[in-house]
Amino acid sequence: MQSTRHARIAGRYFPCAGTIVKPPFNAVLEFCVKRLLRRYVLPTPLYSGVPAGIFISSRLIFGMMSKVVVYSTQNCPYCRMAKAFLDKYKVPYESIDVGADIEAAKKMIDLSGQRGVPVITVDDEVIVGFDSQRLNQLFGIPDTSDAFDVLIVGAGPAGLTAAVYCGRKMLNTIVLSENIGGQALESWAIENYMGYRMVTGEDLMKKFEEQARNLNIRLELDRVVSIAKEGNLFRVRTASNSEGRAKAIILTQGNRPRKLGVANEEQYLGRGLSICSTCDGPLYRGKRIAVVGGGNSALQTAIEMSGIAESVDLIVRHSLRADPVYVEKMKTKSNITVHTGSQITALRGEKFLSGITIRDDQGIEKAIDLDGVFIEIGWLPNTDIVADLVQLNGRKEIVVDVNGRTSVPGIFAAGDATNVKSKQIIIAAGDGAKAALEAYEYLMSEWKEA
Ligand SMILES: Cc1cc2nc3c(=O)[nH]c(=O)nc-3n(C[C@H](O)[C@H](O)[C@H](O)COP(=O)(O)OP(=O)(O)OC[C@H]3O[C@@H](n4cnc5c(N)ncnc54)[C@H](O)[C@@H]3O)c2cc1C
Repeated sequence: MQSTRHARIAGRYFPCAGTIVKPPFNAVLEFCVKRLLRRYVLPTPLYSGVPAGIFISSRLIFGMMSKVVVYSTQNCPYCRMAKAFLDKYKVPYESIDVGADIEAAKKMIDLSGQRGVPVITVDDEVIVGFDSQRLNQLFGIPDTSDAFDVLIVGAGPAGLTAAVYCGRKMLNTIVLSENIGGQALESWAIENYMGYRMVTGEDLMKKFEEQARNLNIRLELDRVVSIAKEGNLFRVRTASNSEGRAKAIILTQGNRPRKLGVANEEQYLGRGLSICSTCDGPLYRGKRIAVVGGGNSALQTAIEMSGIAESVDLIVRHSLRADPVYVEKMKTKSNITVHTGSQITALRGEKFLSGITIRDDQGIEKAIDLDGVFIEIGWLPNTDIVADLVQLNGRKEIVVDVNGRTSVPGIFAAGDATNVKSKQIIIAAGDGAKAALEAYEYLMSEWKEA
């Protein structure tokens, strides 16, 4: 039997320091561990009396082998994050590239009912997407630390830059984020980040991540669900049932994609409807697809997909708003058909999406048979978790001053989630740096021990 690094107790997986575990021994071990857990761990209420700054999540010791398989594609940033997560917690897994292996792709679609990556199987359990919450529940390990000086929400360009600046100021810093890289991961080609003539979003964000990890920063994959002020500290809770406190907060949680607003949209997500062309694009090789939107992201996606798919219908509600450089490039692609003044009014298909109906400005409807639709119609700020805490504007963006201060002392913000008008990587990164320096200033001159 193989070296075991994770084990299952009461349906959960626990790390076990590379022990060779054989079945008979395993049963005895599990019994002992359960006794230990009952005696020392289970009676401890998870959230009562948690000291300031300590993060607690589900975890512990030994048990039976679990077989983990990651179905992924080469350019999918979420697949990379899922694998990085498993690597971090030393979980052995088999990786299958469904972009290259058609049979494996069919198997993945059968198993998950999804045409989207990543899909992760853990024994009989099928996890669709990079579900950091579930992965944390299964494999997250215990860790405690002293009170944090700064807690950063989000690890996009703004959050990772803020982390580097906090690290260089020797602040005890934690970054909590649902993924590492943020929206930039969705970009096939970035041509306006200084120092690079052209770089993929994934490569650029890898560099950001490496730079942050070089410093003494804790980077945890988790979703923050609430932040509350408690005396001179902030208490933060996460989706994986962890909680902790920090003296200052930097909000950099960016944006999320806008929905189409068509009936049955949820039903087809991952079954023909995609919000990540970088991830799911390779699964539509030789197929007919549509891209919805008229901005830079939509045109970038249409251009990239024209090299992968058989045909691309670009559905634009009003007129094209993309930079002329993309419009010109698109004109050179013979398999892209542009439908301006049109919107999707219906999605159809049985298990998977097989067609859409569009309606134009004159009210004329047209049915299009296809295999996939990529939604590229803009983003909404991820500010629900702080809606009752800091001042938001009419667009639900966090209102900040020129130095990244919010309406609440000790809370700073940067990037696309703020009222700064231009949403760009270089601007988010620059504002992340400003927010971190301002947080440092606050901790040095304003924050007081209780
Ligand atoms: C397809 C596409 C192409 C683009 N191309 C370019 C380009 O060429 N050049 C350019 O300059 N800009 C480009 N942009 C815009 C650029 O990516 C954004 O402006 C930039 O990423 C914003 O950075 P941010 O850190 O503010 O937010 P984001 O990048 O959105 O990062 C936010 C982070 O916060 C996390 N998060 C959200 N909510 C929570 C929560 N509750 N708890 C924990 N974590 C949370 C997210 O998972 C994410 O990691 C592009 C965007 C897209 C979508």
